[in-house]
Amino acid sequence: MIRARGVQKSFGSAVVLDGIDLDVNVGEVVSILGSSGSGKSTLIRCMNGLERLDGGLITIDDFDVSNPKDLAEARKRSATVFQLFNLYPHMTAVENVTLAPIQVLRIPRAQAESEARALLDSVGLGARADAYPAQLSGGQRQRVGICRALAMKPRYLLLDEITSALDPEMTAEVLNILAQLARTGTTMVFVTHEIEFARTISSRIVFLDKGRLVVDLPTDRFFAGDGGMANARIAQFLSKMR
Ligand code: ATP
Ligand code: MG
Repeated sequence: MIRARGVQKSFGSAVVLDGIDLDVNVGEVVSILGSSGSGKSTLIRCMNGLERLDGGLITIDDFDVSNPKDLAEARKRSATVFQLFNLYPHMTAVENVTLAPIQVLRIPRAQAESEARALLDSVGLGARADAYPAQLSGGQRQRVGICRALAMKPRYLLLDEITSALDPEMTAEVLNILAQLARTGTTMVFVTHEIEFARTISSRIVFLDKGRLVVDLPTDRFFAGDGGMANARIAQFLSKMR
């Protein structure tokens, strides 16, 4: 599981994460919602060791991301997809997908390539496997990004607003892939502004407000308005999103 306990993070004098406690169990899809600036991306970046914690603890299958000795193991278990398709422009889709499996997991090239082609095929890109990123649409690039993460066979997939740079049609393409992954039991931590989609695929919804985790509820209870003290804040947020 991914476990966060009392996570604190500040930038200068601004407290961005203020005592976050969160558990993500294998098989869950947890969506993180919250207004712009509430700390969602920072939390994801802390989970994959891209930001140093100022306090508290994050472990991935008991590997402490703040411990340099553990970080490599933690990173083997979780893969992150970001908003902007950070593909290597000089490499084809299949080369982007095979790079880390070959270099990090030491998988033989031929095997990595056949696995990468199968993954690209599974997201509808079998025929585009040898295209360069510049020759792909935004939705296609983001699907390559997902394949690149999946090629590492992560137990946990961390996704930060991966559709927010896409138009509605391309967004739908990418969300379909995520729905497919959710159905096959992939564990996901999903930051999104696609509220209705979060509602359909999430087992739980976590709501951040100014760096605090104010609600952590099963999806149906979140949308039924079981947020207690946070209800007014959630209602305000949802009304802006719809
Ligand atoms: P959005 O929905 O707009 O993506 P978010 O919830 O992901 O917002 P974060 O990116 O986590 O928010 O940012 C939380 C706060 O931390 C913001 O006030 C942001 O300006 C600040 N922040 C984030 N990264 C840095 C940084 N590297 N240096 C200084 N401040 C930062
Ligand atoms: Mg963000």
